[in-house]
Amino acid sequence: SAGSRRLCWVNGALGGPETAVVSAYDHGLLYGDGVFEGIRFYHGRPFRLAEHLERLEASARALCLELPYTREELAAAVAELVTASGLGDGYLRLLVTRGEGALGLDPARCERPNVLILADRISLMDGRVQETGARLVTATTRRLPLDGLDPRIKSLNYLNHILARLEANNAGADEALLLNAAGRVAEGSADNLFLVRGDQLLTPRPEDGALEGVTRAVVMALGREAGLRVREAPLALYDVYTAEECFLTGTAAELIPVAEVDGRRLPAAPGPVFRRLREAFRALVARECGDPGPA
Ligand code: PMP
Repeated sequence: SAGSRRLCWVNGALGGPETAVVSAYDHGLLYGDGVFEGIRFYHGRPFRLAEHLERLEASARALCLELPYTREELAAAVAELVTASGLGDGYLRLLVTRGEGALGLDPARCERPNVLILADRISLMDGRVQETGARLVTATTRRLPLDGLDPRIKSLNYLNHILARLEANNAGADEALLLNAAGRVAEGSADNLFLVRGDQLLTPRPEDGALEGVTRAVVMALGREAGLRVREAPLALYDVYTAEECFLTGTAAELIPVAEVDGRRLPAAPGPVFRRLREAFRALVARECGDPGPA
């Protein structure tokens, strides 16, 4: 709408999308050496910003990447950007690269991290999946093991997710399901997975390859409030195929019902538990980020 636009914050300066550039010598580009967050905002207010900044700091620490801004400074930058964009509802991509350096991969030879925050709109899937449910296929590409690249590190290295997503695209599916090296269910290419079985709400464990999703934590809490028995569990494809309901969660995804996995139809998508949690999620967002009320 008028007065709302894609806007960026680059190392302290606000500017249009054309200012969101880094050098080809930046190790974020050369090696995927960096960390990032995707953050939604509603009615001009970021949702669960503290959780996102905490995860960003944890990922950066795991990579020995020293953030050039404090949490408070980043929060102030986010607030400034969201307000200036006038977008109202939208999505932020906050990335921190190792910075410009020599062509060799040694991070010690990078000068200073680059910090970029991009404000835009996002829609992970066509809105129709809210009523029809998404179709998933299991990717042959596996989630990396803990001692390869710990899945709790939200790094700029998303290649195994990209490979999985290519497989989903090639199969005409909406999303890919990734397993870990042991064949346990890990997560989607950009979202976490939940199953409903009786009164249980099940989700894969981080040690099995699930990112510790901010939306995942919110949905686990909402599940408990709804009286469900919420558990992180080792899950096999069998558990997915035989679940009563299955759905995906993520910042971009929000909550997405799953109708089919590898050709197996789930009994209900969107199912009753999903609908209830989606309602609870919307109510929570309205509470935390304000509700515009009737126009
Ligand atoms: N898994 C992966 C691999 C992701 O990229 C994302 C998106 N950040 C998620 C899960 C969902 O996490 P969150 O709810 O924090 O967005």
